[in-house]
Amino acid sequence: MSTLLPHTDWRHQAACRRRGMSEIFYPPPDIEKKHDKLAREKSAKEICATCPVCPECLDHALRYEEMQGVWGGKNEAERKLMLLSRATSVAVDT
Ligand code: SF4
Repeated sequence: MSTLLPHTDWRHQAACRRRGMSEIFYPPPDIEKKHDKLAREKSAKEICATCPVCPECLDHALRYEEMQGVWGGKNEAERKLMLLSRATSVAVDT
């Protein structure tokens, strides 16, 4: 995470700011077995559960359609479902 963030940016309070955390939150560049992915994501979500800016993080990930990793306690598939649900809800409302 950049050190050039505005002082008030929510990311300054992120529980995942420590070095080495990216290996937990993002898939490896090569193939990841399903049980490894589940274990990695479980570890990431446990950290997210303690994070004071979890809602802001999830909102950011949904707004910018972050394609990889765990954000706001949700993995890629869970965020896609949330976006799909939002899109479906908007379509039904109009
Ligand atoms: S919710 Fe999770 S991914 Fe988001 S800032 Fe907090 S620890 Fe990091």
